[in-house]
Amino acid sequence: MTGRPDVIVVGGGVIGVATAWALARAGVRVDLLERDGLAAHASGRNQGLVIGPHPPEMAAIATRGIELYEELHERSGHAFFFDRMSHGCLMVGEGDHSEHLARADLAAVEPLLGPSITSGWLNHDARRIDPAAAVVALAEEARAAGANIRTGVGVRELLRTADHVTGVLSDDGRIEAGVVIVAAGPWSWRVCRSTDFDVPVRGVRGWLVVTRPAPFRLRHALEDNTWGATQKGLGTPTVGELASGTVDPPAVAGLIQQDGAGRLLLGASLQTSATDDPEHQDEAVTAVCRRAAELVPAVASLPIVEIRSCRRPMSDDGLPLHGPVPGMEGLILATGHGSQGITWGIGSGEAVAAGVLGDRWDPALAPARFAEPAIVQ
Ligand SMILES: Cc1cc2nc3c(=O)[nH]c(=O)nc-3n(C[C@H](O)[C@H](O)[C@H](O)COP(=O)(O)OP(=O)(O)OC[C@H]3O[C@@H](n4cnc5c(N)ncnc54)[C@H](O)[C@@H]3O)c2cc1C
Repeated sequence: MTGRPDVIVVGGGVIGVATAWALARAGVRVDLLERDGLAAHASGRNQGLVIGPHPPEMAAIATRGIELYEELHERSGHAFFFDRMSHGCLMVGEGDHSEHLARADLAAVEPLLGPSITSGWLNHDARRIDPAAAVVALAEEARAAGANIRTGVGVRELLRTADHVTGVLSDDGRIEAGVVIVAAGPWSWRVCRSTDFDVPVRGVRGWLVVTRPAPFRLRHALEDNTWGATQKGLGTPTVGELASGTVDPPAVAGLIQQDGAGRLLLGASLQTSATDDPEHQDEAVTAVCRRAAELVPAVASLPIVEIRSCRRPMSDDGLPLHGPVPGMEGLILATGHGSQGITWGIGSGEAVAAGVLGDRWDPALAPARFAEPAIVQ
């Protein structure tokens, strides 16, 4: 499709691509601009689980997401790996879940568990997905529906009047549109920097380790129950902490899944990170491997084929931002999906597209929930 788009989407991760797809399906002329490649960052480098549980605000989006992934999987001719039925995830650790398992039951559910693991529960809402291929398949669908998906085109600045965004200044020149949707992950603040709204989303780096195929098979994915608490407790380093060298070390919550060929994907660390260049690799990877070997001692002998990292776009309250930037007409945010962006991404794209078309937004997710901080003189 050529000519002036109705909507520009900035960012070709899962959120941007899903949003462009949903808009194009609704007949909207949409240009998506991605400065690198599709799914080049967190959306293509993550743990690859579509997994609950979900906060109540995201439950409907998550349920719809499963339907949309199933539909995409079918329509793409199974172009990406996706579990059609739940693979299951053993949530490890103490808790008050109604289906809590004692040690003897745990050993029957997952015989390779380490001896230090004494309790857990089986989460039936967990599927494995190849996230990079899924995003590219989604982009193919978006293109087929008429979206103009462009890679290698960065957005350098918003075009705007005092209170209205009118387009973007991109590497390919000025592009005008009635609506600009910023789905630029942890870089969303930078795209919006000329507005008065400081997008409250930071990058939280995670390191993952991939092994060669194992001579054994795990029955489920495994996840430390402490994920939620670990994410909530993350600090953002201050200038003073950097100056005094007192920045917290990376936190680790164990997460393991095995692909069809038997490779194990071991995750994951969490550390607020303001740099695009991977840092703290040794510390984080050591902790990830140590926790993995506690969860499943048999992983210790497996050779490693890849170590990688990426940054989650995490909001200050753990929920995504879907909706208009306060005080700036025509500027919409779709970011902040934290550690569940693949799970929620495809449904979020549909929700954001519906918001744009109907001008109706869930207040629980609207950027306006973040009050302006007072300026101290
Ligand atoms: C270690 C780790 C494991 C994870 N595991 C899972 C999991 O198992 N399940 C799950 O659901 N989620 C998981 N996540 C979370 C998930 O990966 C993210 O929430 C999701 O990928 C975020 O997608 P996004 O599209 O918002 O951001 P991104 O994938 O970061 O995409 C944003 C895009 O915007 C582009 N961009 C930025 N600035 C500009 C600009 N100026 N112009 C043009 N383009 C621009 C970037 O190049 C990038 O491609 C994990 C995250 C991490 C870090």
